[in-house]
Amino acid sequence: TRIAEADSVAVIGLGRFGSALALELMAKGTEVLGIDGSEDIVQAHNGLLTHVVRADSTKEETLRQLAVHEFDRVVVAIGGDIQASILTASILLKMKIPTIWAKAVSDPHGEILGQLGVHHIVYPEKDMGQRVAHLVRGAMQDYVEVGDDFALVKTTPPKAIVGIPLGQSRVRATYGVTVTAFYREGKGWDYTTLETVIEAGDLILIAGQNNKVESFSQLR
Ligand code: ADP
Repeated sequence: TRIAEADSVAVIGLGRFGSALALELMAKGTEVLGIDGSEDIVQAHNGLLTHVVRADSTKEETLRQLAVHEFDRVVVAIGGDIQASILTASILLKMKIPTIWAKAVSDPHGEILGQLGVHHIVYPEKDMGQRVAHLVRGAMQDYVEVGDDFALVKTTPPKAIVGIPLGQSRVRATYGVTVTAFYREGKGWDYTTLETVIEAGDLILIAGQNNKVESFSQLR
């Protein structure tokens, strides 16, 4: 039987990051082959992932035996051992895996992964630190960066846009952000129209360039 089903991902390294990623994929219905060098870690994931195998991912032959080369998507979630991360990524690239994701623990680590040709590099600690900084600074309740300079932010509405239809508030011209959706107690989330009148107790979802959404959510 082929392990690499259509909706399947191989996750190499089941530390805190790899484990959370693998379990979330499983929860959303994706098949996961988890690989880790530690017997304890493998034991802990037994029955939680589609397959869990104890193996050293820096050995090409081992990865081939596990049919990792048949996967379209592989995540290298090894952080602490940078050498293992780089060796593993280079084997996966040699296998021509179409989409490789790798976690980097530092900028130089990420730079090397990028130079090797890894398709997607994530910096979980750095990204989360920056994300939380945005939440700590302002009225933002949630913050998602979409691309390099665009973000979606959940926040409370400033006085300037409360009580008048959005179409008349000139919010885009004045602040450079778009109010895309709003939440009202008892009604839940809904998208906005030009006629929507935001109330003081609402929450809003705004979209725009990072600095614009940030300044807008600091308004009171
Ligand atoms: P986190 O910070 O997310 O916990 P770590 O870098 O500490 O990540 O964990 C990485 C995991 O990868 C560990 O469980 C470790 O056993 C595993 N690992 C490290 N090197 C290899 C390797 N060569 N082959 C397989 N698994 C490895």
